Amino acid sequence: MENTNETRDDFPAALFEFEGQSLRWMDLPTLFGDRLPCLPVVLRLLLENLLRNMRGDERRAAVAALLAWIDTGTSEAEIAFQPGRVLMHDTTSTPALVDIAAMRNALAEAGVDPSVLNPGLPVDVSVDHSLAVEAFAQKNAPTLNLQHEIRRNQERYRFLRWASKALTGVHINPPGTGIMHTINLEQLATVVTTEERDGATWIVPDMMIGTDSHTPMVNGIGVLGWGVGGLEAQTVMFGMPTMLRIPDVIGVRLVGSLQPGSLATDLALTVTQRLRAIGVAGEFVEYFGPGVATLTAGERAVVANMAPEYGATTGYFAIDQSTLDYLRATGRAEAHLRRVEAYARRAGLWFDPEATPRYTRTIEIDLDAIGMHVAGPRRPQDLLSYADIGRALDAVGFAAKASVEAAAMPRHPVGIAAITSCTNTSDPALLIAAGLVARKARRLGLAVPHWVKTSMAPGSPAAASYLERAGLLDDLDAVGFGIVGYGCTTCIGNPGPLTEPVRQAQVDGHSKAVAILSGNRNFPGRVHPDIELSFIMSPPLVVAFGLAGDAERDLSAQPVQTLPDGRAVHLADLWPTREEIATHLALGADPADYRRDFKIASANPLWHALEAPSTPLFPWDAASTALRRPPFAAVTEGSLLGHYAAYPLMVVGDDITTDHISPASAIPPDSLVADFLVARGDDRRDLNVFASRRGNWEVMMRAAFHSKTLVNMLAPGLPLAHTLHVPSGDVQPIWDVAQRYREAGDSVVLVAGERYGTGSSRDWAAKGQRLLGIRAVLALSFERIHRSNLIGMGILPLRLPAGTGPQALALAPGDRIEITAGPADIAPRASVAVRVLRADGRIEPIAATAAVETQLEVDLLRQGGVIPAILKQTIAAHGGKAPEPAHALA
Ligand code: SF4
Repeated sequence: MENTNETRDDFPAALFEFEGQSLRWMDLPTLFGDRLPCLPVVLRLLLENLLRNMRGDERRAAVAALLAWIDTGTSEAEIAFQPGRVLMHDTTSTPALVDIAAMRNALAEAGVDPSVLNPGLPVDVSVDHSLAVEAFAQKNAPTLNLQHEIRRNQERYRFLRWASKALTGVHINPPGTGIMHTINLEQLATVVTTEERDGATWIVPDMMIGTDSHTPMVNGIGVLGWGVGGLEAQTVMFGMPTMLRIPDVIGVRLVGSLQPGSLATDLALTVTQRLRAIGVAGEFVEYFGPGVATLTAGERAVVANMAPEYGATTGYFAIDQSTLDYLRATGRAEAHLRRVEAYARRAGLWFDPEATPRYTRTIEIDLDAIGMHVAGPRRPQDLLSYADIGRALDAVGFAAKASVEAAAMPRHPVGIAAITSCTNTSDPALLIAAGLVARKARRLGLAVPHWVKTSMAPGSPAAASYLERAGLLDDLDAVGFGIVGYGCTTCIGNPGPLTEPVRQAQVDGHSKAVAILSGNRNFPGRVHPDIELSFIMSPPLVVAFGLAGDAERDLSAQPVQTLPDGRAVHLADLWPTREEIATHLALGADPADYRRDFKIASANPLWHALEAPSTPLFPWDAASTALRRPPFAAVTEGSLLGHYAAYPLMVVGDDITTDHISPASAIPPDSLVADFLVARGDDRRDLNVFASRRGNWEVMMRAAFHSKTLVNMLAPGLPLAHTLHVPSGDVQPIWDVAQRYREAGDSVVLVAGERYGTGSSRDWAAKGQRLLGIRAVLALSFERIHRSNLIGMGILPLRLPAGTGPQALALAPGDRIEITAGPADIAPRASVAVRVLRADGRIEPIAATAAVETQLEVDLLRQGGVIPAILKQTIAAHGGKAPEPAHALA
């Protein structure tokens, strides 16, 4: 990227004098004058970043393209982005760190000192995704659940501890410290920071990426960051920038202010519905207008968090007084706040409610009009009033069978009522509101029906302190919503088992249970494998529906409960006023909680007692069912590009999520994956969740497409996780079929509909497909992170033109797909020759396009993916000898 011919710097750094310090900075207002305020703030941040990180002609071209964006509001140009830090969680970091461990082996085999391979920037890992709600509604639930988590995951956790010792820059936040995005808000985010560069100290905006789709939450406090796949994060960790097309920026103008009764969750769900309706996939969203100033930073973070639900890369709120208030409330030093304010104001990054920069498109949302909403029963964008859940469930059309035993159970019982997720537990106002509902319910003598599984798992250990100080923790405990731990729990599909009455009623066919949660996703099976219907709502509404126990009850008209004396208790009797929330927030607040409670949680003795090796190479255990050296973390992995005729391994429809492709939830004890693990010594009753096995490629390959709700259209009535081996007509487990194709030298591809790979940012969804031998995925459209992950694994994503989706193609057994995509044929958004070779001899061409956005992605595909690329670069830099690729594909 360095231009050796560059003789002068068009965009020189300036001096930022502040409180006796002389720092370097990119003085955007001086460099760009009147043009700067025309750019959305997110593009000003990208401009600052590229000025620091690009050089020469590429930098000049990128700056010109960004300024030209002001005229058109869109651009095809690509720019480099170099974040300052990386955030990961235990289930995305484990595979990434396993890859790095295996890459160290590959380096050693190539004659290179393995300890040279280390991330080049800080990597913070939160161990938050594996906490399950085994114990609930009891005082010691947090301790019991934490003990259970550590016992179940100890091998993986030892590995994480090895990584934190062996790899410089990797820091682990142990179980119990909270949810990654809450930790980011409360502990890690600086908003404005310093970095050492060229022998000088620079003042720079805090910008980051995370291997989790809800990373944009931190945009609520003015930190630009977004979710990437684990593979993209690996490229950044090892010195390559992430390249992105200059994004379209959707301006969401907020006017008015939230009215009493409406909460940040209601706003986030409304934004999700509005933006999904106009389609903002892959675009940046920025909030502007006078309504922004009426929101606290905590409320903004809830809205920013749901960017993946509205389909955007990120949803940004610029820095202002509310940002500073948040930093102060969470214990940041006053000197730091002064620096944030001074930098943001001078750099042209301070929020102005009157400003209207250029946006690609704008929409307006009136905060006054936001009502009490929920979303469901299957998608977060399906917005409805809290009063309409019954009607939505009616539309599901579940006909209950009569059952004497379960006669006391409603048709749609609340099986799970969970105050969960970073989204809705990071803003103290939401938990205080839930506590106030609990207090009023307790005083009226209400109790949760026996079939409801209740829980509260805040993102921050500070929640216990402020709820206790506000006097609400006891009330939450009393109605069953006591704290069960600090982690993702129900939100990631770890709610633990359903209560026995609900389980039995489902088995009997009397009831179809519903999950009520303050999460962000509700795809069927996401929350629990046996729960297909879920509604997302605010924490206080979760408490109310938990008390009602019947998801069909219209709480706008019907009572939450009727007391033994016949008195009906309505939602209005429980709902807190705005003043009550404010009073209790003030009662509970103490900025000292955040640092102190995090420190105490970080000292987790169970975690620190886990022994871990201190060697540069990880000592793989051949008998392990948790950690195995993956075959793709090798320099010998070749490119999958080429000219070939492939059998479709799978044909799937629209909205295939990464949960369908690579499940995270509990491993069913009667599954083939369970048989595989039991044959290797595991206990069938304690197999943990698929997500906990992401360090073992053999398990994850078998888990690929293990989803009850996935329909493989290749042949009718295919059993779970099976497909058709076309040449023989046999129906077998998918990996067996993949293996047969591989042994016969046959290529395979996958065909899909719209939004392939939506949902979580899990790189195993791409790794699983690589292990199955899939060379290309042909889809009508791709979700952003999954597309990037496919490329990271060397798999070519091909965009099918409208009208040629899986249904229209009507692939019949024996049809093959011919693809001409050699290394020289691929360029960003290039046309790729695809022909359907029908079994009866007909040939049908399709005008497909490479879903490849940047030259860096082209290079990665040519090298076989991210890992071979990093290995080749490291071996070349350290004088090693790379072995030849083990296989050359046609
Ligand atoms: S969205 Fe849910 S699973 Fe993801 S980090 Fe937040 S709590 Fe965890």
